[in-house]
Amino acid sequence: MIYDVGVVGLGPAGVSALKVFEGSGLKVLAVETAPSFPRKKPCAGGLTSKAYTILKEFFPEVDSVVRKKITRFTLYNGKNSTVLTSDTVLTYMTQREELDAFLFNSLNHSQFDIHLGETALTVDKDIDGVILNTTKDSYRVKVLLVASGVNSRIARQLGIKREIGFTYESYVENSKEELIIDFTSFKWGYYWAFPKGDVVTTGLGEFKNRKLSGSFREILSSFNKKHGLTGKETWSSGFPIPAGKSKNDVYRPHILFLGDAGGLVDPLTGEGIYYAVKSGTVAAGVVKQFLITGDPHRLKSYETAINSLFGEEFKWARIVGHLFFNLKGLNFFLLKRSPELAQLAAGLLAGRISYRESFKKYLKLVPGALLGR
Ligand SMILES: Cc1cc2nc3c(=O)[nH]c(=O)nc-3n(C[C@H](O)[C@H](O)[C@H](O)COP(=O)(O)OP(=O)(O)OC[C@H]3O[C@@H](n4cnc5c(N)ncnc54)[C@H](O)[C@@H]3O)c2cc1C
Repeated sequence: MIYDVGVVGLGPAGVSALKVFEGSGLKVLAVETAPSFPRKKPCAGGLTSKAYTILKEFFPEVDSVVRKKITRFTLYNGKNSTVLTSDTVLTYMTQREELDAFLFNSLNHSQFDIHLGETALTVDKDIDGVILNTTKDSYRVKVLLVASGVNSRIARQLGIKREIGFTYESYVENSKEELIIDFTSFKWGYYWAFPKGDVVTTGLGEFKNRKLSGSFREILSSFNKKHGLTGKETWSSGFPIPAGKSKNDVYRPHILFLGDAGGLVDPLTGEGIYYAVKSGTVAAGVVKQFLITGDPHRLKSYETAINSLFGEEFKWARIVGHLFFNLKGLNFFLLKRSPELAQLAAGLLAGRISYRESFKKYLKLVPGALLGR
């Protein structure tokens, strides 16, 4: 038997691709390492408004796993702090294991061959397709969608080029309501505390530079103390995170790389759920076209589409990141001083305004903010 499509990994990227295949009549195989859902994935579970909007489009019941709607962020740099507020939601808080279980359970399972507890190991070339080798069997597929996250074995086997940073995260039992972002001492990253009701997800990441003076675990613990998050720690772990680029390496013949497997994460904030879902839906659309026409060049258009959709934004994220981190003290002072700049930063963190647009607005607002006007 030859499958039309194989999907490796059922996080947001893989599940979103499957959602688009529903009702298509295609023969689809999906393999997922986890034996069942919910399963753990280190993640703060914050959805920007663009992530919430795309999830709502494909999974209309997503509100069932939104624990909180945040309209206020407190930012810190050393002892300085400033508050960003908004009339509309800045971030939707989810617990990742709940979100992913909801996404998985929203699929029409009867339309696909879904194999849980099965790990994809390697791929081999096949005539007009790919052979997928797993811990249980080998399968022939016409196209393979690799959505197995940042640690993807197939991305490593095929030399997919990605830039990888590092994070450390913990769950702290605490009912604090405040969403905190603290930039103190980071070269290109931050500490976060995301409230979820009975628990706060706290973590830190250096997205481009792994070097922090001290261990990530100890630094996280001292930030937790600084912000009064001293409840029982129920879980903690380190985890890599990719950083998207202007040109992303997401295609090999008959194989497309989605979400983290293709490195598709905002290089400044570490946001990846939106990019996982979007790349999943784009890949599925391209695969459908390929299967109708039989033209393998159609598959290559996935890489072009991804780079035109995300490449520019990732490039500008890096430009804004350099500007922010190299002049962190000054930028923090300006944020406190200028309500317009604070509004701009809120829109950016909420994913409502692009980096390029923010950069242009920032340049216009800075002279007035410096002069105190
Ligand atoms: C600490 C941390 C905090 C983060 N916080 C946020 C945040 O608040 N908001 C946000 O938008 N993004 C955040 N991100 C990024 C976000 O978690 C990822 O970008 C997102 O999960 C990518 O989705 P994905 O579907 O590509 O991969 P994943 O979510 O990693 O899913 C991959 C799936 O593949 C399965 N798998 C792995 N290997 C195999 C294999 N060999 N065979 C079969 N199955 C396999 C895994 O079990 C998993 O189910 C964070 C990341 C980290 C590390």
